[in-house]
Amino acid sequence: GSADSTATESFVMMPSIIFTKLFINGEFVDSVSGKTFETIDPRNGEVIAKIAEGDKEDVDLAVKAARAAFDHGPWPRMPGSERAKIMMKLADLIEENLEELAALDSLDAGKLFSLGKAMDIPDIIGVIRYYAGAADKIHGSTLKMSREFQAYTLLEPMGVVGHIVPWNFPAMMFFIKVSPALAAGCTMVVKPAEQTPLSALYYAHLAKLAGVPDGVLNVVTGFGPTAGAAISSHMDVDMVSFTGSLEVGREIMKAAAASNLKPVALELGGKSPLIIFDDADLDMASDLALLGSLFNKGEICVASSRVLVQEGIYDEFVKKLAEKAKAWPVGDPFDPQVRQGPQVDKAQFDKILSYIEHGKREGATLLTGGKPIDKKKGYYIEPTIFTDVKDDMLIIKDEIFGPVTALMKFKTIEEAIKSANNTKYGLAAGIVTKSLDVANTVSRSIRAGSIWINCYFGFDKDCPFGGYKMSGFGKDFGADGLHKYLHTKSVVTPIYNSPW
Ligand code: ADP
Repeated sequence: GSADSTATESFVMMPSIIFTKLFINGEFVDSVSGKTFETIDPRNGEVIAKIAEGDKEDVDLAVKAARAAFDHGPWPRMPGSERAKIMMKLADLIEENLEELAALDSLDAGKLFSLGKAMDIPDIIGVIRYYAGAADKIHGSTLKMSREFQAYTLLEPMGVVGHIVPWNFPAMMFFIKVSPALAAGCTMVVKPAEQTPLSALYYAHLAKLAGVPDGVLNVVTGFGPTAGAAISSHMDVDMVSFTGSLEVGREIMKAAAASNLKPVALELGGKSPLIIFDDADLDMASDLALLGSLFNKGEICVASSRVLVQEGIYDEFVKKLAEKAKAWPVGDPFDPQVRQGPQVDKAQFDKILSYIEHGKREGATLLTGGKPIDKKKGYYIEPTIFTDVKDDMLIIKDEIFGPVTALMKFKTIEEAIKSANNTKYGLAAGIVTKSLDVANTVSRSIRAGSIWINCYFGFDKDCPFGGYKMSGFGKDFGADGLHKYLHTKSVVTPIYNSPW
């Protein structure tokens, strides 16, 4: 199904593109080479703006600024409450510019504007305030080691952090990294994805307005193998935090190891199962499968890209899901009736279609979709569901990152657990059942970082999120999300003539 793509201008005022340069040491500057790259509107393939293309020299300048701000600047030295005040101000400024910021990501990434306003941007405001609230509550512990010695621990900022950010949730991926790092007292260089550079530059501007000192938050726009690799291999970057594909995560870890052995936090891909048992409410289960597979056009690391359904309800479930998928409106992301916009760019669009072709060639059956939708040269793809999928097919092994899911049938709970764990990934899993026993057993049996029972996408700023296995390591959100930007230092002192 697809809604009419009426002129976008009738839905909303288009955002103006103000910031297109690198943000280094508190100033917007051209790249050293003077080069630029184009960022594209996925609704029609047209150029939105030319953006400064940062490379190694620009990363060097940004790291130098971040290093100076860490080694000599006020940010890591001020009381946490002062950092909190500035972060709260930043959250307020984002709130004042909420529609503009949501619109920037819709334009750049094809994300739903209605959801950006209702979810993406309000959620980052929540995340910033959450970590601002933690900034003055960072403290270690006191240890009575023995009669002769005692110790205390100091939690100190990691230093200069490199954040390498993906394009699927430009706002959340920026602030899931930047907010805890700011609260911890770190300074940083952020590289947004080349597909979605617009909003990150706007955030840099707002951070300056809020009072974040120059050099603390630098943004270098550019490509992965150049600007990104310059960050991960930099000798003066103390840590790298990355969200993106498994392949790139591997490159980043290699570069970190080969340079200064900097610690890395990696949030990588997934092939998350949604397991639906015979006793499930079919309406709820099919809604969860639909949303799990198609939310954000499937461009989400925790997409329910494998839907495992017990045999007793399989046929009825398939019918229901197919009906709903066919009625799912695809179209202009600024149209409030639309639920699925275009894929982020041509490369992603082509990659998804080639996986669909692969699935057909390998003998899977198309239940719905399977084709591009012809709309003003935009990168739209039909909601696509495969059945008759076998364990060794590429479409069940690889992360596709598009509106494509695969249905599989199972008989017993043991079989479901085995099948769910049959993946190199371990990011999330969903379970739909009325049985507490089944839910508990399956929750403990699945090797994945998040388990969602009778719900899906159960995210919150206070709830740790991150992978098992090749989905990476290092949690985002919650206290864990803050502590990965902190070192623990043990300070030991002798006690003479202690009576205890
Ligand atoms: P996708 O494949 O979904 O586009 P990637 O994992 O390639 O996602 O990209 C996520 C981020 O990693 C982007 O900011 C991208 O520019 C960056 N990146 C890509 N390749 C490298 C690399 N070799 N080193 C560092 N960063 C990279």
